[in-house]
Amino acid sequence: MSIRINREKCTGCGKCIEVCPGTLLFKEVEGSKAFIKYPKECWGCTSCLKECKFEAISYYLGADIGGNGSIMHVTEEGNELHWHITDAGGNKKIISIDRTKANSY
Ligand code: SF4
Ligand code: SF4
Repeated sequence: MSIRINREKCTGCGKCIEVCPGTLLFKEVEGSKAFIKYPKECWGCTSCLKECKFEAISYYLGADIGGNGSIMHVTEEGNELHWHITDAGGNKKIISIDRTKANSY
């Protein structure tokens, strides 16, 4: 279970670094791109995905949780979070969650 950061999309804003509870994300110098230093330590809390406003972070859904190689990224629209899932065959699905009703799911 881990994430991947797209260096093309990463602006180096540093938000993901601030929210990672495991202190797994770093930048080499101020303003440079983020990277994950200890990918095996990532437990998939998805905090960094939700915080990145540039769709630069993808999360791998492993076979162990039914993902079979699917990847996921998150976009935000008002109170809604959209979870974009692409399976190994390229099929796409979006799951939308209203943040204000998160406790009712
Ligand atoms: S939040 Fe996104 S854009 Fe900002 S440093 Fe992290 S990966 Fe890069
Ligand atoms: S998914 Fe959670 S633990 Fe993994 S790198 Fe992102 S913030 Fe850190």
